[in-house]
Amino acid sequence: MICGRNVLFASLMLSAAPALADECTQAQAVYADPAGTYELHFEPVGSEAAVTSNHFKVRIGDTGVLVDGVVMQSGEPLRANGIVMHDCPTGDVTGAELEACTVWQGPIYAVDKAGQIGLLQPEDAPAADRILLPDFGPSLRRIERLGRRQGYHRQFRCLPVQGVWIMSDGPVLLVTGGSRGIGAAVALAAASEGWRVAVNYASNRDAAEDVVRRIAEAGGTAVSVEGNVGREEGVKAIFAAVDTAFGRLDGLVNNAGIIGPPQRVDEVSPERIEQLFRVNVTGSIRCAAEAVLRMSTRHGGRGGSIVNLSSIAAVLGAPGQYVDYAATKGAIDSFTVGLAREVATEGIRVNAVRPGIIDTEIHASGGLPDRARDLAPTIPMQRPGTAGEVADAILYLLSDKATYVTGTILTVSGGR
Ligand code: NAP
Repeated sequence: MICGRNVLFASLMLSAAPALADECTQAQAVYADPAGTYELHFEPVGSEAAVTSNHFKVRIGDTGVLVDGVVMQSGEPLRANGIVMHDCPTGDVTGAELEACTVWQGPIYAVDKAGQIGLLQPEDAPAADRILLPDFGPSLRRIERLGRRQGYHRQFRCLPVQGVWIMSDGPVLLVTGGSRGIGAAVALAAASEGWRVAVNYASNRDAAEDVVRRIAEAGGTAVSVEGNVGREEGVKAIFAAVDTAFGRLDGLVNNAGIIGPPQRVDEVSPERIEQLFRVNVTGSIRCAAEAVLRMSTRHGGRGGSIVNLSSIAAVLGAPGQYVDYAATKGAIDSFTVGLAREVATEGIRVNAVRPGIIDTEIHASGGLPDRARDLAPTIPMQRPGTAGEVADAILYLLSDKATYVTGTILTVSGGR
């Protein structure tokens, strides 16, 4: 799938240097991503390399990091497969060593001026107008952290083609309750980091559509997904919609949650307790289960990351206000630790964030619209947190910066 941003940039770049594509061979072409951050330089290999049609190097931004790639034409069906490696050992190398230094592997397609996608031609054929490397974006972000090297210099025998190097198919994140508050902040931040986002909502469609529109305007990809996580048919509908829209899942933020009006335990109704647990606990467990079915290597998935929304109430107990709500978040803590250990060898990390008082509409939904402001003096930092500050912690836990972090509950509470 090519997202809107890529198509937009493609049409912008098509007219960049129309004559040059006819003058350069594939072996001499240079491609840049829309922002000009990355450059992919093909290099001639020569006829003695029977199966290799191109070498290429990728220069990453101004980091000086340079990674090597080869294109190999495979038969039946004929297509060009690319492998990108970084810092591979030389001499006799084992398969495991090669696997460890391989940062991306996949087909490389050529895109012509009409936008038709086809096979990448051998090195002596005219250069493709644009090329498509599915899923290369996430790999680039990993490579970007590999360190710095001396700059890369190359003499071109003919002028490079400045085509568009399309980085499609970023990882997919489902944010339950992504229409408002913390979930909306997570959806927006994740999209800006390259995730394609499914923005779930229960009833406020306009709010969800607004988040999707803002993501699209910023060049990202998102869809809104209706579904009540507190109902089994809602969970099924949410995941069916994600499957249809993206066909893959790489991350889940179990954010949807509710509170009730302040009440003592001896005042709360059984119906309220049942609803709180159904949405906050059963909903999170069921969504995690569906995510595990799609992401776990045990089920043929490629791994992923789950972040659950706990609350500082799980620790403080929220006496006189929401002890039942606090208990749902205590359950989330236990669930986070247990699931993390259960799927630790299946490529899935499971963590939680434990926000303190965050300035969102959840307080108004509990009948206390000024709660965040009123409680500010009780917070060591003397202010409520913002949804964006919680989103930053969630994005960290989702990211490759947290590859050894699982079963952790990260408190984001201003010291409370
Ligand atoms: P919020 O502003 O009230 O937003 C709640 C979001 O959840 C909305 O997008 C809402 O969708 C969605 N939602 C509610 N019930 C749902 C259901 N049954 N199925 C699917 N989606 C549902 O809440 P928030 O303050 O951002 O809180 C987000 C999470 O953080 C919650 O789990 C909450 O317990 C936790 N948390 C919040 C705070 C805080 O101070 N704000 C502190 C600690 C923990 P609609 O737009 O369709 O209603």
